[in-house]
Formats: sequence, C-alpha cells, structure tokens
Amino acid sequence: MFKPKKPLSRLYALVVFSFLVPLIAFFIYAAKYPAAFFFLAAALLTNIILLMAFHRRLSRRQATISLQKEEYFEKTNMLKAELEKEWQSIESFRRKIINYSQLKDLTEKLSMCLSLEETSNMLSIEVNRLFGHQDITVILYLFHSKTGELGISSSQRGHAQINLKAKKGDFFDQWVVKTLHPLLVEDANSDFRFDVDKISLEDSREVRSLISAPLMEGNKILGLLRVDSPLPQHFTTDDLRFLRTIADLTSIAVENAQLYQRLEELAIKDGLTGLYLRRYWASRLEEEMARSIRGKYELSFLLIDLDRFKQYNDTFGHIAGDIVLRQVSQILMEHFSRPGDLICRYGGEEFCVLLPDCPKPKAAVLAEELRKKIQDRQIILRRQKTNITASIGVASSRDTCLKEELLIKADEALYQAKEGGRNRVCLAS
Ligand code: GH3
Ligand code: MG
Ligand code: MG
Repeated sequence: MFKPKKPLSRLYALVVFSFLVPLIAFFIYAAKYPAAFFFLAAALLTNIILLMAFHRRLSRRQATISLQKEEYFEKTNMLKAELEKEWQSIESFRRKIINYSQLKDLTEKLSMCLSLEETSNMLSIEVNRLFGHQDITVILYLFHSKTGELGISSSQRGHAQINLKAKKGDFFDQWVVKTLHPLLVEDANSDFRFDVDKISLEDSREVRSLISAPLMEGNKILGLLRVDSPLPQHFTTDDLRFLRTIADLTSIAVENAQLYQRLEELAIKDGLTGLYLRRYWASRLEEEMARSIRGKYELSFLLIDLDRFKQYNDTFGHIAGDIVLRQVSQILMEHFSRPGDLICRYGGEEFCVLLPDCPKPKAAVLAEELRKKIQDRQIILRRQKTNITASIGVASSRDTCLKEELLIKADEALYQAKEGGRNRVCLAS
C-alpha cells in the first residue's frame, strides 16, 4: 500500500519565525536611531511580509497537492486490489479449463475400457497422475456383486500397483460408506471424528491426510474412490470437489463394466446354474485336446446325467427340479476346483466336466466320489427330505484323440451306466 508524505508547513513556519523575531527587534532598535537604518529595516520588514504571504500561498498549494496525492494513492490501491481479484479469477478459470480437459481425457480413456479390471486399473493410474504426486496412494474400492462385501479393486502409488493390508477398507472408508458423503481429512492426527491409533493398528502405512468420495448409482453405493497422503494438509476442498467429479464418472464406468461383464457371462454361462454353456465347452474342447497332445498328458472327460429327473419334476414340481440342478452344480464346482477344470451344463439335466492333465483312473476315482456326494446330498423341499442320483460316463484321450469320438465314448459309457441300473460310474472301453 502507498502512504502519502506529510506536508512540511511546520518546518517552514519555524524557519520564518526564527527570522521574524530578530528582525522585529532590529526594527524597534533602528526606529530610535538614524533614518537610514529606519528605511533599511522598513524594506526588510516589507520583504519578510511578502515572503510570509508567498509562503502561505505555497503552503496552501502544497496542501492541495498532497490531498490530490492522497486521492491518487487511494485510487491506485483500489485498482491494485481489483487487478489482484481479476488475476485470481483468471487463475481459477485457468485451473477449471485444465481440470475440464483432464476430465475429458479421463472420460475418453474410461469409455475405451470394457472389463471391470481394465477400468479399475486405468482409473487408479490416471487419478494418481492427475493428483501428480509420488507419495500419494489411490485406492478404488468396489462392493462385490455376489458377496456384497467391500473390497479393493485397484490401488496405485506413483507408477506402481501396491498391495494393501486393509483389504475391506479402514475407518475412513467405513465412514464414507455409512454416511454416503465425501470426506476430507486435513490431518488425521487432529481430526476429532477418527481414532488414529485404531487406524494405525489396521495398516502400517502412514496416512495423515486424505480425500474420499462414494461411487453412487442413484441411491445405491457401488464403492468409493480414495486418495491419501503421508503428509498433513496435502489436500484442499478444491481437490475434493475434483475427486467428486471423477467419482461420478467412475460410477458410470463401473456400471458399464459390470453390465458388460454380465452380458459376457450370459453369452457363455448358464443363467440357472452359473456353469459354462455347451457352446463354450465345445470351443474349449478342441484347444484342450490339442494342448494334451502337445503336452503329452492325458485329458479326461465326464458325462453326467441325473437319474429319473423327469419323475422328480413330476413329483415335486419344476421349481424343485431347478433347485436340484443348482445344488448339483454347486457340488460339481466344489468337487472340481483345480485351475483348468471346465464344468458345463451340457443341456437339461446333463452336465459334463473336462479335466486336463488327469489320467483316466484318477478321473474314475473323482467320478465315483462325485456320484456319492450327489447321492448323499439331502434336498429339503417343503420340510420333506429328497435326494437324487446320477449316472456318469468317463472317457479320456487314452480312448481317442478325436474330440467328436471322445464325446461318443463318454456317451456310450453313460448309456452303460443307465442300462446297468443307474447311480453308477462306467468307463469307456
Ligand atoms: P434317465 O434316468 O433315463 O435320465 O431319466 P430322466 O427322467 O432323467 O430323463 P429324461 O431325458 O426322460 O428327462 C429329463 C428331464 O429333465 C425332462 C425335463 O423335464 C427335465 N429338465 C430338463 N431341463 C430342465 C430344467 O432346466 N429344469 C427342470 N426343472 N427340469 C428340466
Ligand atoms: Mg438326460
Ligand atoms: Mg436323466
């Protein structure tokens, strides 16, 4: 701020008076003595009076000038303040433009992702880049579509994906899930809402400040997006606002990815049992046969048919039959859980299992265990205990190396099992 200087009028007055007093004394003295002195003194006095008059005018002008100066200073200060405001709004516009172009970029990238995994990984990388700090951690939590539990979908620090201990979220995340509100924690150590000691027990990672926003689909929460830092005061309300916009975009992308996943599953999986469909199995069979020949290992194939299922349906109803089909599928999934085992609903009440790298005798043992499990499973319908049995045909690449023939061999073995009285396992010969 400018400050105007004070006028020098007091100093001038002092100087003038210091001359005036001796001169008046001289004038009194000269009046008593010769006339020459009198005229000289009179001339001097006139000069002084003129000088004083001149000084008064000068002082007045100086006062006006300093008043004007003050006005100018005031105006300059006002202009400076206005200019500063303008700069601030220009700066905020500039930041908004940058944010919008970053969001546009992000939207484009998100629209290119199809699967949920691809979407979450891309998102955590991009959000980390947007907040541009090596020390910050970005975590995307999503509710599992089947279990309904909150879990980490992706987490990123700098250029690396990281593995976090608090897989189901910590205090901060639970707060967001509970309140459905975005959260800004400037310093976790002094935030009265959270007990920081409990947080450090769950995760050894230091978190001093964070921003977090829920991912909403209408009134339903899909998950949350969180960015945290080991430094206090790392985030501002502007950062939180930016994150909320990103969270809105993320919700749409997650929703799309989940829909895509469901569509993909519908195309290859059976809606009732969740098992693969026959056409998917057929496309995999050729691959698996070729791989078994290349890898010189034996591939086994089981064809399973429920016994007298029509009768079961007729007795207990079609809906009860559906429950049985789901239960048998569950047993199959539990029984054949090796990576690579392929379980399908072959059609109606028939199932098939492809077991890569499984010799025929081992497949026969597995088939017998499965038969027992199905037979022993009690299915309670309207408080009535019911059960079902299955016949199983087993064939392997030892019997044939042609995929069409593998199926025929297993079907023949299954026919034998039915002919032999059902609820049994028969091997192809
Ligand atoms: P078998 O011991 O000879 O196999 O006799 P089965 O009665 O099981 O054989 P069949 O082929 O005569 O009948 C199969 C029945 O499976 C007929 C059909 O009603 C039933 N079925 C097929 N698909 C479904 C389904 O999705 N749900 C229900 N509830 N029943 C089904
Ligand atoms: Mg059948
Ligand atoms: Mg049957």
